[in-house]
Amino acid sequence: MKNYSIAIDGPAGAGKSSVSKEIAKRLGIVYIDTGAMYRAFGLYYLKNNLSLDEEEVVNMNVSNVVIELKNEDEETKIYLNQEDVTTEIRTEGASVGASKVSVYPKVREKMVKLQQEIACKSSVIMDGRDIGTVVLPNATLKIYLTASVDERAKRRYKEQLLKGMDVKLEDIKKDIEERDYRDMHRETSPLKQADDAILLDTSNLTQEEVIEEILKLCRERDIK
Ligand code: C5P
Repeated sequence: MKNYSIAIDGPAGAGKSSVSKEIAKRLGIVYIDTGAMYRAFGLYYLKNNLSLDEEEVVNMNVSNVVIELKNEDEETKIYLNQEDVTTEIRTEGASVGASKVSVYPKVREKMVKLQQEIACKSSVIMDGRDIGTVVLPNATLKIYLTASVDERAKRRYKEQLLKGMDVKLEDIKKDIEERDYRDMHRETSPLKQADDAILLDTSNLTQEEVIEEILKLCRERDIK
């Protein structure tokens, strides 16, 4: 089969990245975490004490931000202006920064172009908010992954605790609700299910069940 693409969209904490990473491994294809790209983009402004609330300031700096994905030791590392920020982008501050920076059309234009260039080169599974609607409108398979806010907050909370982070469940829930609102209501490429995407509610499914379901949909499209 020639190159194919799988688009996974959905709100924060729906399990997109863990599921996508595992599917990439099983199918032997490239995984692209577009959320990580927006996180690294936002981090540039946070690190340089630049306002993320003023579009003019954001736009003036877009050309100074260089984001790269590099495969190292079977892991994808994310670089911001030659600096490895793979770990730094996972803090709650970076999440908020990402959802703020990603509302600006100039930022999205630059990221979408880069994502499309990567997807051209090989078969990919890409996760984000606008993959099925904007980045890969002709994707071979589109999935919209979701779960209840409570369930998503609980999953994030457990994930962060395991990483040794000091977090509160209520704070995570509030952050997820605010991010959902911003992501769904922004003018440019808001989060929404593509018309031809398949909805998968993962609230009562284990990660393995979600993976199995997506692999079944892949096989139906001759992706093996
Ligand atoms: O997926 P993740 O939670 O890491 O994404 C962080 C933020 O980046 C999201 O809340 C969203 O605002 C933004 N994002 C986006 N478009 C994408 C991926 C992420 O706007 N394709």
